[in-house]
Amino acid sequence: MDEQEYFDVAVIGSGPGGYVAAIRSSQLGLKTVCVEKEQKLGGTCLNVGCIPSKALLESSDLYSKICHDAKMHGIDAQATYHFGKMMERKNRIISTFNQGILSLFKKNRVTLIHGEAHFSSPNSLEVKGKSIKAKHIILATGSAPIALPFLPFDEKRILSSTGALSLEKVPKKMVVIGAGVIGVEIGSIFKRLGSQMLFIEFLDCVCPTLDQSLSKGLEVALKKQGLQFELSSKVIGGETDEKGVSLHVERKNGTHFETHADMVLIAIGRRPLTQNLHLEEIGIHPNSKGGLLVNDNFQTKYPHIFAIGDLIDGPMLAHKASEEGVHVAEIIAGKNPHLDYITIPNVVYTHPEVASCGLNEKEVKERNIPYKIGQFPLRANSRALASGEPEGFVKIIAQEKENYLLGVHILSAHAGELIGLASLALKKRLTVQELADFCYAHPTLSEAIKEASLAVYSQPIHL
Ligand SMILES: Cc1cc2nc3c(=O)[nH]c(=O)nc-3n(C[C@H](O)[C@H](O)[C@H](O)COP(=O)(O)OP(=O)(O)OC[C@H]3O[C@@H](n4cnc5c(N)ncnc54)[C@H](O)[C@@H]3O)c2cc1C
Repeated sequence: MDEQEYFDVAVIGSGPGGYVAAIRSSQLGLKTVCVEKEQKLGGTCLNVGCIPSKALLESSDLYSKICHDAKMHGIDAQATYHFGKMMERKNRIISTFNQGILSLFKKNRVTLIHGEAHFSSPNSLEVKGKSIKAKHIILATGSAPIALPFLPFDEKRILSSTGALSLEKVPKKMVVIGAGVIGVEIGSIFKRLGSQMLFIEFLDCVCPTLDQSLSKGLEVALKKQGLQFELSSKVIGGETDEKGVSLHVERKNGTHFETHADMVLIAIGRRPLTQNLHLEEIGIHPNSKGGLLVNDNFQTKYPHIFAIGDLIDGPMLAHKASEEGVHVAEIIAGKNPHLDYITIPNVVYTHPEVASCGLNEKEVKERNIPYKIGQFPLRANSRALASGEPEGFVKIIAQEKENYLLGVHILSAHAGELIGLASLALKKRLTVQELADFCYAHPTLSEAIKEASLAVYSQPIHL
């Protein structure tokens, strides 16, 4: 090893956890390096996750609206799409933000080193034969898709989300194994573009972490769009041939069926990526899934080694990773930050969208919290009707006596844009009366939040 560089903070990984942690550390006056093994910055979120999926959801939604919804507005329109151009647009958006993070690093004086990092001692990292010494190390190496042992990814017929978001053509039929968030988002893209889409899901509902009413509402909406679901079913075997993939499926009731598709997307979850960090050599032992155990300050067994984002417990979400990145940078800088997990929103970018924050009804029951519910359907909201998107509802859960908000759950167009207000209300520990007291612009979808708050104490105006 010829050279050694010294930093206050070394961040491994430039995903939404790592790059945000690096920028915040530098803003706080800490000499910071970020190490990234890929040529492109931004991690899963920017390159193969949030951003490409949302770009393609947007393009396919526009196409679908022209084909199916224009008519109800009195517009006769015919549309054809160019899949290659949709992909080019998606790639351009990614490149713009790749460059954006690079510029932000320059602006904030974050040193960037390309290469795969591993520990050579608890305070030293090795990257391409070069040693980096840091007082504090933030691990933000993210996660990777989980494969099925009998159907390894080839990214041609057996796809991970990464392969599905880089296809060269739209499949005639796609089977998605797993009806979680990633599965239903990517499934929606290809259904809108004309694929036959079948989901095989082990559990008895779609997106099982959602409030049950949202999960059911989403299933109904997706079925109306032609997506098919085999719930309570497990893929137990499969073979590829030159035409595609055959799958053997077992239902929970013991019956079996076979299905064939030209491509299969495996969306059964993601696992934390720690295996190349040489953690065992310094005495840190990841759990059986590869994840890391940290304390409330995100410290591993070494107080100066932190872990954030998809590597640790909690929902695998970009904004959760970023919040944790800021939090750790501030702890290192001697501040006293506060991170309130209950206010972290969760969005599914289907149509309609699903968005929630706080506790769902099952969680409230499990905690024996006395509660009440207010619900308001979007069909009674003037903006939803005017825009021809009346599907869905807002459900608010509040404490029985004190009226404090416990959870807000929304199924509606643009729910992801509405949930920020609910998240703020939860953070500020508002009561439902306080949420209802707000003046909401008319006509907007946000009025459904006011009405659902009023409905908690049985006084909605428009229902
Ligand atoms: C298809 C899809 C859609 C998604 N959509 C959303 C969404 O809409 N909203 C949302 O909030 N979340 C979404 N997610 C989840 C989100 O992308 C992740 O939760 C988020 O990217 C996690 O951030 P991270 O910083 O922990 O890790 P990552 O983004 O995975 O970044 C880790 C980085 O570390 C680098 N790295 C790994 N090992 C090393 C090493 N040894 N040395 C150097 N560098 C290394 C990797 O190359 C990578 O760049 C989606 C995920 C997928 C797959």
